[in-house]
Amino acid sequence: MYNSVLSRDVGEAIRGRVAHAIDTHSNPGHRVSMPAKRTSRTAKTARTLAKRPTRYVYAFGERTDGSSAMRDLLGGKGANLAEMAAIGLPVPPGFTISTEVCTYFYDNQRRYPSVLKADVEAAIADVERQQRKVFGDADDPLLLSVRSGARESMPGMMDTILNLGLNDLTVEGLAKRTANPRFAYDCYRRFIQMYGDVVMGVQPANQESHDPFDALMDALKHELHKTQDTELTADDLKELVKRYKKLIRSRKRVDFPQDVYEQLWGAIGAVFGSWKNERAIIYRQRYSIPTEWGTAVNVQAMVFGNLGDDSATGVAFTRDPANGENVIYGEYLVNAQGEDVVAGVRTPKQIAEMEREMPESYKDLQRVRAKLEKHFRDMQDLEFTIENRRLFILQTRNGKRTGLAAIRIAVEMTEEKLMDQRTALRKIPAESIDSLLVPVFDARAQKAARVIGRGLPAGPGAASGLIVFTANAAEQESRRGNRVVLCRMETSPDDLRGMLYSQGILTSRGGVSSHAALVARQLGKVCVCGATNVMINYERKTLTADGVVLREGDYISIDGSTGEIYAGPIDSADSEVKRVLNGALAPSESYAYRLFHTVMDWADKHRRLKIRTNADTPAMAEQAVAFGAEGIGLCRTEHMFFEGDRIDYMRQMILAVDEVQRRAALKMLLPFQKKDFAGLFKAMNGRPVTIRLLDPPLHEFLPHDDGVRRKLAIKLGVSPEFIMDRIRALHEENPMLGCRGCRLGILYPEITEMQARAIFEAAAQVMTMKKPVVVKPEIMIPLVGFKAELADQVTIVHRVAREVAQRTGVKFDYLVGTMIEVPRAAITADELAEVAEFFSFGTNDLTQTTLGLSRDDMGSFFETYRQKEIYQHNPFASIDESGVGRLITTAVERGRSTRPNIKLGICGEHAGDPASIAFCHAAGLDYVSCSPPRVPIARLAAAQAALKSA
Ligand code: ADP
Ligand code: MG
Ligand code: MG
Repeated sequence: MYNSVLSRDVGEAIRGRVAHAIDTHSNPGHRVSMPAKRTSRTAKTARTLAKRPTRYVYAFGERTDGSSAMRDLLGGKGANLAEMAAIGLPVPPGFTISTEVCTYFYDNQRRYPSVLKADVEAAIADVERQQRKVFGDADDPLLLSVRSGARESMPGMMDTILNLGLNDLTVEGLAKRTANPRFAYDCYRRFIQMYGDVVMGVQPANQESHDPFDALMDALKHELHKTQDTELTADDLKELVKRYKKLIRSRKRVDFPQDVYEQLWGAIGAVFGSWKNERAIIYRQRYSIPTEWGTAVNVQAMVFGNLGDDSATGVAFTRDPANGENVIYGEYLVNAQGEDVVAGVRTPKQIAEMEREMPESYKDLQRVRAKLEKHFRDMQDLEFTIENRRLFILQTRNGKRTGLAAIRIAVEMTEEKLMDQRTALRKIPAESIDSLLVPVFDARAQKAARVIGRGLPAGPGAASGLIVFTANAAEQESRRGNRVVLCRMETSPDDLRGMLYSQGILTSRGGVSSHAALVARQLGKVCVCGATNVMINYERKTLTADGVVLREGDYISIDGSTGEIYAGPIDSADSEVKRVLNGALAPSESYAYRLFHTVMDWADKHRRLKIRTNADTPAMAEQAVAFGAEGIGLCRTEHMFFEGDRIDYMRQMILAVDEVQRRAALKMLLPFQKKDFAGLFKAMNGRPVTIRLLDPPLHEFLPHDDGVRRKLAIKLGVSPEFIMDRIRALHEENPMLGCRGCRLGILYPEITEMQARAIFEAAAQVMTMKKPVVVKPEIMIPLVGFKAELADQVTIVHRVAREVAQRTGVKFDYLVGTMIEVPRAAITADELAEVAEFFSFGTNDLTQTTLGLSRDDMGSFFETYRQKEIYQHNPFASIDESGVGRLITTAVERGRSTRPNIKLGICGEHAGDPASIAFCHAAGLDYVSCSPPRVPIARLAAAQAALKSA
C-alpha cells in the first residue's frame, strides 16, 4: 500500500520518514524488541522479558500511565499531559511514544522497535473507544494531533501536525457530522499545509520568499476580494484544498497520502526526524541540551477551536511572564485553531477581553489557573482550546519568563506560601538578577527622541542599534562590531541565529506569545512585538512608521518595557536598583529594589562561599561593595600603570639600562601606586584586598606607534633608535608564556620592592588616619610554578613589610600567597603551600595552560568543536570540570595537606559563572571573585550551589 508512494521519485524528507514506518508495518513479526545487548542473555531471561516487554507507549485519558515525574521518558509535554489527566483537568485523550523510541530510531537507521506498530494501534483503539469515533472512518472520523515534546521544552523548534486523519472521504464525513462543511474544509486545508510542510518538505525556497501554501491562500483571497481567512466559505476552502494538493504533487511528484495510518506514521517519523533538524540543533547548542535525550511523540484526539464563535484557541500564562505580575495573561482567537495565535495570522485578543466575550469559559480558565498553580507550584504556561464552550487544556509547563518576572514570581509565590524560600531561590536563574540591573533609556534622551510607533512590550530593557531585516545581516553587522535591532514582520525559528546577534527584536505582527516574544524572553533580549503601525518591506529594505521611512543601517531604538519605538539612537541610563544603591533613589520608591533586596537577603542566608570582586579602582570597588562584595579578590596593578603620566615613568623604567636608572623611574611611580592603593583600601573599609603584583610582559607597555615613540624619545632624552632596539630586545614569540608574572619580579626585584612598599605605606597611611580604616592586604605573586619562585618574591615582600612597619610603627596583618594558573603549580600545591598563605585560582590562564589553548585564537575552530560536541561549552566561560577542575581539586587537597587553613579563592572570569560557582562550592573554596556587575549573580549562584549540595 505504501509502494505507490515509494515507487516514484519521492523527496528525501518523505523517503526517510515513511520508509521506516513501512518497515515496522510490513514486519509485524515479534512483539518483544531485542536490542543487541539482550540477545546474549539466557533463554530464561529472554522469556521473562517477553512477558513484560519494554513499554514504549503511555496512555493518558481515562487510564493514565505516566506522570509529571516521567519527563525524561515522556518529554515535558507528555509528562504534564499525563499529570493533568490524572488530576482531573480536561485533557483530550491520547498517548505518548517515549523518548526511548527516539533513541532507538537514531541507533537503528531510523527504524522503530518492532512492537511499536501494534502498541500504537492498540492505543489508537483506546482513544477511539473514549471518543466514540474511529480513525479513518468515512462517517465520523477520529482526528488526531501529532506533537513533539522533549525533556526540556524547545518552543517552536519541533513540528506539530493537527487534524491528522482527514482525507477526501473523511472530510465529507466530518462535514456531515458537524453540519459544518466550512469547518471540515478549514481543518483539511490546515492539515494538508502542515503535513505538506513538515512531513513532505514543501517549504519556502529561502528566508525572503513566502510560504508556498500561504501564497496560494493569499492569491485565492485576492481573487475573491477577501481579506480575512474567516471570510472564506466552504467552497473557497475546497478550492484551496485542491490547489494545495496540486502544489504538493507538482513539488514532490507524489500525491498527498490518503491512507490515515500512512499519515500517522509519516507524522511520527517527522517528529522524530525533527529532533535533528538545523534549528533544533542550534537551539540545543544554545541551551546545552544533550542530543541523546531525544524527543517523545504525543498523539492526541483533536478538539476544535474553529467550530464557530463559541469556540476559540489560546495560550495563557498564570502570571505575567514579562513583569511577573499576579494576573492571568495571554491571548486567544475566536474560531481558530492551533498555531493561529502564535503564528500571527490574525492579531489575537487579550485574555482580559474574554471575561466579557466568553464569560463562562473565562471562569473555567481562572479555575484551571488556580488549580495548576497549586498543583505545579510555579507559574504555568498553558495552551487551551474551547470547543463549543467546553474548555480543554492541551499543554502546561512551567512558563518561561523574563529575569524580572522570575524574581517577582518567586518572591510573591513565597509570600503566598505556594513555595518556600529555598525553592524560590532555586527557581530564579542566577543570571536573571541582571535584568534588575540592566540599563534603561536615559530619561531625558528618551523624552527628546521621536516616537514613531508602539508595539507590545515583550522583553524589557532598552535597545538601540542599526536596523537589520534578516538574520544574516544581523550576524554580519554585529561581527563588524555594530549593535543591531532585528526588525521583522514576524520571526520564525530560522531567525534564532539573528536574534542572538541582536540587541533587540522588533516585529510588526504577532502577539506577546509569538515566537519573537517567546525567544526574546528566554534570551533576555529586548523585544517589542506586534507593532501594527510599523510597515516592513523586505524587498525595499525599509521600515515605515508614522510617516518616517527608515532604511537598513539606520538607527532605531526600542523600549521593551513600554513597547515604544523611536527613530534614531538613544543613550541609556542606570536601572532603578542601581539608582537606589547609588543613593539617587529612595529604597521605598522602587519595587524592583525591594525584590532585589529580598532575593539577595535570602541568598546571603543560604550561601557558604564568600563573594569578592575583581576591581582595580576605588570606583569599581565601591560599586562592587554596593552590590554586596565582601572583599577584593583581584586587583590588577598593571592597569594602574597605563594612566596619564605614569605610562611614561613606566616606559622609562622598562628602558632603563641598569638598576640605578630603573630605581629612579620606580621612585616616580611609587607615589601613584601608593595613592591608588590607599583609595582602594578606603573604599573597601576593612574588607580584605588581594593585590596581584605586576603580571604582563613589559613590552606591552612600550609604544608601538612611530609618532608616540619619537615623542617619548624626546621626553626621555634618548634616540628613537634606542627605543626601537629595546622593543626588539623585549620582543617575544609567545609573550603569554614568556617573561611575565613572577619572572619579572625575579629578574627585576626592585619592581616587587616598589609595589610592596606602595602597598604597605598606603596601608600605614590609611590605618593611621583620623578615622582609621583597617587594612588586610593579601599580596599575590602571579604565574608561579616552582616553590623557589614564590620564596624569592615572598622574601622581598616580608622584608619591605618589616621596613615599613619599623619606620611607621604600624603593625600589618597581611598574607602573601600565589595564583595557581599553571598546571605545575596545581600539582605541586603541597610544596607551594609551605610558603603561600593563600591560593587564588587564576582560571583564565589555568585554562589556557591546561588546554594548551589561547583564548584569543580559538575562534577558528570553536564552532566546529561545539558542533561536534568536543567542547560541551566554552571552557573560558564555564570551568572545564573534568580537566581544569580536577587540577583545582588536586591543588585544594594538596595545599590543605600542608597548610590546613590555607585560604582558597578563584579570580578568573569563571568566578561570575553560576555553573563554575557551583563547582567552586563543591571544591570547598572559601570565596569566588568576579567582576563588580556579576557580584549579585554570584551571591545567588553561591546560595543555589549550597542548596543543591545540602
Ligand atoms: P508546541 O510545542 O510548538 O507548543 P504543540 O504540540 O503544543 O506545539 O501544538 C501547538 C498547538 O497545536 C497547540 O497549542 C494547540 O493549539 C494545537 N493542538 C495540539 N494538539 C491539539 C489537539 N489535540 N486538539 C486541538 N488543538 C491541538
Ligand atoms: Mg505547545
Ligand atoms: Mg594570569
